[in-house]
Amino acid sequence: MIGLSVVVPCFNEEACLPELHRRLSAAAQSAAGQDYELVFINDGSRDRSWDVMRQIAAADDHVVAINLSRNHGHQLALTAGLDLCRGAKILIIDADLQDPPELLPAMLETMHDQDADVVYGVRRSRAGETAFKRATAHGFYRLLSRATEIEIPVDTGDFRLMSRRALEALLAMPEQSRFIRGMVAWIGFRQVPLPYDRDQRFAGHTKYPLGKMVRFAFDALTGFSSAPLKLASHAGLALSLGSLLMIGYIAYAWISGQNIQGWTSLMLVVVVLGAVQMFVLALMGEYIGRLYNEVKGRPLYIVQEIAGGEPAAGKLGYVAEATAKSESPGGSGTRPITRRSSAKIRSKA
Ligand code: UDP
Ligand code: MG
Repeated sequence: MIGLSVVVPCFNEEACLPELHRRLSAAAQSAAGQDYELVFINDGSRDRSWDVMRQIAAADDHVVAINLSRNHGHQLALTAGLDLCRGAKILIIDADLQDPPELLPAMLETMHDQDADVVYGVRRSRAGETAFKRATAHGFYRLLSRATEIEIPVDTGDFRLMSRRALEALLAMPEQSRFIRGMVAWIGFRQVPLPYDRDQRFAGHTKYPLGKMVRFAFDALTGFSSAPLKLASHAGLALSLGSLLMIGYIAYAWISGQNIQGWTSLMLVVVVLGAVQMFVLALMGEYIGRLYNEVKGRPLYIVQEIAGGEPAAGKLGYVAEATAKSESPGGSGTRPITRRSSAKIRSKA
């Protein structure tokens, strides 16, 4: 086993990679000497990220570069890296250097001093992010902590240091829709915060546009809370009570002979009921969609090729066997993969 793994999901980060490699290597060396690996996951980037990664992996033995078959999304790319890394301690960090790698020694020290299994970064400030992003993130983390039964720390990202046993617990969770910071909170053990100031992106722009942020927030909510479902049943209950009152009123109006008037109120009731029903249906649909996704039991990620090392045998994804064909003529540093990691993990034979 390697002392330290640093796991970095990358999507269109070609401009960040060289600087990231430089700063991560320096931080890892100061913390772990030569006993470390840097695991870069290329999440189907459309720029030259993979080429850059391969070059870095060819030049540095500490680097393992993993190429996913397409864009799987941040949380699944991260899952692939976690599943395939070999370290006794694992640092998760973004590729854009918003989270300073130089915090690593402090994190290791905290982990050691406080005998913790997880040291997670808490954002004291967030530089270079729009007021909109800060406000929505602020609101989201508070809403989440109200809605969920477990305590998910507010203002944390995935930037954290974990012990092997905490990681193994995390990898024992096979779900498809992953909200990793919540899942880590769920596993328990001793988890300690470490406040830090979040920098600006080193280069490029955010890979979380509004649509993805909303999806991410929904995954978190539906994955960790049945509060939206309760909302649906509460709305249903309130409406049923309301309709009982309405029935009483309608009966009264009929008896007293004033049953013709009231188009406005009739329309109002139809429209409100229709809207609430649609809303509730949509909420149900979210959970059913989630169920459907889980039931299929597909591997969480597909690895197309790996450069620079032989990673651990993952259990959550599928690693394609390298064929002579897929090896490009100048593909130095890419090693054939002879292992096939099975996707049958979830049948827990
Ligand atoms: N990322 C990824 N796949 C995606 C989107 C993002 O691997 O589909 C990576 C991205 O390269 C970065 C990390 O996830 O390393 C966080 O993304 P970003 O910095 O854009 O998010 P923000 O910090 O703006 O919330
Ligand atoms: Mg970022």
